[in-house]
Amino acid sequence: MKDEPKKIISLIIPCYNEEESINICYNEVNKVTKKMQKQSFEIIFIDDGSKDKTLSILKELSIKDKRVKYLSFSRNFGKEAGMYAGLKYSKGDYVAIMDVDLQDPPEKLIEMYEIINNENYDCVALYTKSHKGYGFLRKKLTDIWYKLIDKISDFKQMPGARDYRLMSRQMVDAIVSMPEYNRYIKGIFGYVGYNTKWLSYEAPDRVAGTSKYSIRKLISYALEGIIFFSTKPLIISAYVGLLFCLISFIFIIVIIIRTLIYGNPVSGWPSMVCIILFLSGIQLLFLGIIGLYLSRVYTEVKRRPNYIVKETEKGKYEKD
Ligand code: UDP
Ligand code: MG
Repeated sequence: MKDEPKKIISLIIPCYNEEESINICYNEVNKVTKKMQKQSFEIIFIDDGSKDKTLSILKELSIKDKRVKYLSFSRNFGKEAGMYAGLKYSKGDYVAIMDVDLQDPPEKLIEMYEIINNENYDCVALYTKSHKGYGFLRKKLTDIWYKLIDKISDFKQMPGARDYRLMSRQMVDAIVSMPEYNRYIKGIFGYVGYNTKWLSYEAPDRVAGTSKYSIRKLISYALEGIIFFSTKPLIISAYVGLLFCLISFIFIIVIIIRTLIYGNPVSGWPSMVCIILFLSGIQLLFLGIIGLYLSRVYTEVKRRPNYIVKETEKGKYEKD
């Protein structure tokens, strides 16, 4: 009997200033690929405009091991752009995204592959209930955010979901076919659908280096998660506006009746000032919300590329 051709698994590993982690990650991945002899691998590192030795380490690796490929960006475009570039570049029958800091343990791939290959799933994804490495504030804010997003998002998002997942080629093609500039991959995963099996695990601390996400960056990422995948904030603004109209209508009637009965005493300006301040505050807040959406429309219509590749393992990048 003729052997079936080996299934190819593409691993996408975004890296930003990760000189300390890359080799550790590569060694771990290598151990896993040795255990998975029946499959072949392509390991795609994305150098997201790193300023340290990341790129030279990747070059060395790609010379040493032909399975290692890399895309190096002209500047830092963010992890979202990195993942998108990797998905587009990948050729495998199955594609996995994993962080380089080993918070997404490579050995989980064996189990993930078993499931996706033998059971009827298009995707096997990991979520975690406990993040060892993250501080109290970050854990608390993440919890609140997941509760909020669950209420206002149109698509279900698993609390504690990592970006670590193994997907079928069909699902990857669906994700790549979404060319939006303002990308939020956790929302995109939900949007494209497909059967996903969720595995729980305990996320370890970073193996080396430090987190590339400050609290400020995380808050803006969380806000993007809401804005890119839900228009509920706009609808809530409209409802609040309607509520205030109703309240003011009742007030007008009360004041007319009171004036007719008691005359027109000129008093109550402190309460008036409070009401004006309160309402102008609400107006500014809602204008801000509209502004956030509008700014996204602005960046979207400019149709700028999500990332610019400067070089790959084949040398200086030229568009084909
Ligand atoms: N990363 C990236 N570009 C960025 C920020 C991060 O490619 O602008 C990569 C980073 O190198 C790592 C992954 O995204 O492989 C997750 O980042 P990190 O571990 O710093 O985030 P955390 O685990 O703290 O959320
Ligand atoms: Mg990490």
